Amino acid sequence: MSSSVRVTYTTSSRLSERVRETAQFGTVFSDHMLIANFENGLWGEAEIVPYGPLPLPPAPIALHHGQAIFEGLKAHRTLDGRIAMFRPYDNYVRLNRSAARLVMPEVPEALFLNGIAELVRLDRNWIPEREGGALYIRPVYFAIDESLQVRPASQYRLVVLTCPVGPYFAGRINLVVEERYVRAFPGGTGDIKPAGNYAGSLLAAGEAQERGYQNVLWLDGIVRRFIEECGMMNVFFVIDDAVVTPPLSGTILPGVTRDSVLTLLRDAGIATEERPVAIDEVFELYAAGRLTEAAGVGTAATIAPIGRIAYRDREIELATLGSDSILERVRMRMEAIRRGQEEDRHGWLMYL
Ligand SMILES: *Cc1c(COP(=O)(O)O)cnc(C)c1O
Repeated sequence: MSSSVRVTYTTSSRLSERVRETAQFGTVFSDHMLIANFENGLWGEAEIVPYGPLPLPPAPIALHHGQAIFEGLKAHRTLDGRIAMFRPYDNYVRLNRSAARLVMPEVPEALFLNGIAELVRLDRNWIPEREGGALYIRPVYFAIDESLQVRPASQYRLVVLTCPVGPYFAGRINLVVEERYVRAFPGGTGDIKPAGNYAGSLLAAGEAQERGYQNVLWLDGIVRRFIEECGMMNVFFVIDDAVVTPPLSGTILPGVTRDSVLTLLRDAGIATEERPVAIDEVFELYAAGRLTEAAGVGTAATIAPIGRIAYRDREIELATLGSDSILERVRMRMEAIRRGQEEDRHGWLMYL
């Protein structure tokens, strides 16, 4: 993939093996970043520059009115030593769905995919060597017009940063069913990735943490009964040997990991259902011994097993996912595809 990205190399790399191999998620940034600006109705050429501060006017629309969106994907090393990104085209398509919802100009495919490929190639030595390590890629796209008028901006910036991240060993996640706050509502922005969605979830997560849980299980915003997501992840349940996840009804983020899990389950001939799951149903099925596994899924954690779920004065606790559990087997298959050990039937890997 050739590219016309202009590169200014850093003269003082911060790369150290120790930092790279031990970095906490999203706290260490690699040497370079990609920047592209949109103005006068056109995208300028993408540029790669050393990671560092970016000048901003005091009144960019992104800060005052939240016209800002982001994405998250990963690049990693395969067993034969090549570098690949996992399903970057899907992130490109989703970025533009988010952009359309916030009335932002479409990002060209070549700018996004070639630009990121060039950035990752340049900072490939930042990909951790430890098993399960990856370079987390964070595109953020925002309005920079100086204006307090409530209207779509005319100038925008796309910035792509990368962070070395390790495997996600958080153990099982414990959740509180959230009845007070909602993450998303029909017609809102729950099915895209605007920057503000995470800010809106912090209070609920913080209150759950005060009670000793990691995060919340979000319910629908209308009747507060149907499960939507867990924390910032899509959610899966195994009920009677079928794998169940809430449908993409407009309030659920269409996760790339969610789609990968569903696809691999179907490939393996395991029954899947995309249907509403009520919280009382979860408690009843658990009591009847029919709910055996649950997990949150997303790019950062891939598949994170759920332990406890607290709802009003009740609590259930699911067992650790053994190596013969459905969700652990699908996690291992996804990992095998990622590492190039198993055939990539769906063309998910984009090699650099
Ligand atoms: C990004 C995100 C996910 C996970 O999507 P992936 O593409 O699998 O990383 C799930 N829920 C929310 C709310 C998100 O923002």
